[in-house]
Amino acid sequence: MIDIQTRHSQGSLMHVDTLLKCRWVIPMVPKNTILENVVIAIKAGNIVKLLSPKEAEAFSADETFELNDHVVIPGLVNAHSHAPMNLLRGMGADLSLMDWLQTKIWPAEAKLMGHDFAYEGAKLAAQEMLLSGITCTNDQYFFSEDIARAFEDSAMKCTVSAIVIGFPSAMAQSTDDYFRCADALFERFQGNAHVRVSVGPHAPYTVDDAALTRAAKLSEKHGAPIHMHIDETAFEVSESLRLYGMRPVERLARLGIINDRLISVHTVHPDDREIELLAKAGASVAHCPSSNLKLASGFAPIAKMMQKGINIAIGTDSVASNDKLDMLAETRLAAMLGKATAAEPTTMKVFDMLYAATMGGAKAIGWGDRIGSIEAGKAADLVAINLADINTIPTTDVATQLLYSADRSQISHVWTDGQCVVSKQLLQKSPYFDREYSVNVAKKWQNAL
Ligand SMILES: [Zn+2]
Repeated sequence: MIDIQTRHSQGSLMHVDTLLKCRWVIPMVPKNTILENVVIAIKAGNIVKLLSPKEAEAFSADETFELNDHVVIPGLVNAHSHAPMNLLRGMGADLSLMDWLQTKIWPAEAKLMGHDFAYEGAKLAAQEMLLSGITCTNDQYFFSEDIARAFEDSAMKCTVSAIVIGFPSAMAQSTDDYFRCADALFERFQGNAHVRVSVGPHAPYTVDDAALTRAAKLSEKHGAPIHMHIDETAFEVSESLRLYGMRPVERLARLGIINDRLISVHTVHPDDREIELLAKAGASVAHCPSSNLKLASGFAPIAKMMQKGINIAIGTDSVASNDKLDMLAETRLAAMLGKATAAEPTTMKVFDMLYAATMGGAKAIGWGDRIGSIEAGKAADLVAINLADINTIPTTDVATQLLYSADRSQISHVWTDGQCVVSKQLLQKSPYFDREYSVNVAKKWQNAL
């Protein structure tokens, strides 16, 4: 039973905007920690303090949430998405990556791509993400300015990519053109509280050495993350060996791409030397197990990479290869698949996985200073999951049941910057969830295809 009470400042009470009275909190920092009966105080969009119920008596708030059966975690961070592709959901099942791209995705994109497609697709993605507890995503696509606007309009945070790809698109005709768009994107969002920008060379097989070197320099200039698909398929590796005489990570290391700002997406087929290079550089890996399984790309050696100290994050990829933006499901799958791939059930531990889905993602995509953990001073981007549900009773081990049993339908509340953007009451009438808008947008683009 959730009760929202309104109170006003009285006497000498310390006044905050919101108090969340939580049965359980998993703050992610410090690691391996569950707090019980904790009150989170929120003011001006930030977490002020974590209080005991006794300490909380000294506080008044405009709004208090009683979360008696809930675990509260930091907002989930989706480390790899292509948000506008929500408009291509369901397209091209049962194909290999190259067939899927060449016969389905790229032709559809060639037909539809533009500012409206990017914005409206990203709006649909943002709604699905928020309902799944995702409060920040790391996106790579064309027309990133429109995508960022869609996430801003949805009260989310994001990192969007200044994409660089070796063929013309509706957005840019040449490498110079892509870099002009990149400069404009960095300029547009400089200092923005909700949008950060990465450099997004698409993949080793779609970007040449000269453009990769420029991308590395641009990332260095802005201190921005590099968001790139790397070692996704065995074919990519064999082509790299054939064309360059070396594996993708080795080639990228020579071009200045492998460093602590790199988000290496997928990374299904690294050999030991490539893992070593990524680990030594302090790079992050965005693991997207559903996409790798659906496209039969293979089984990422994620336990080994984690053991070597690589920062692991979890991503959904797009709905065209997943086909849903469900970080709880993705993280559960990552844990189970990682254990099986390593033939080692003691790896991919519960707290490590929950960390990957929050703080690991935040660190990877350049948001570690603001989000990813429940700590004083960080943005109040939070998710409450009701564990008094048939999926998760009896609740004997909160973290384990959150990872392995909870479903996204159990997410009862989502806050971003302290504002409650998802709750059962809000869904009826919310500026962020307009079912009619979504259905009409989906229909419009389906007809255009
Ligand atoms: Zn991708």
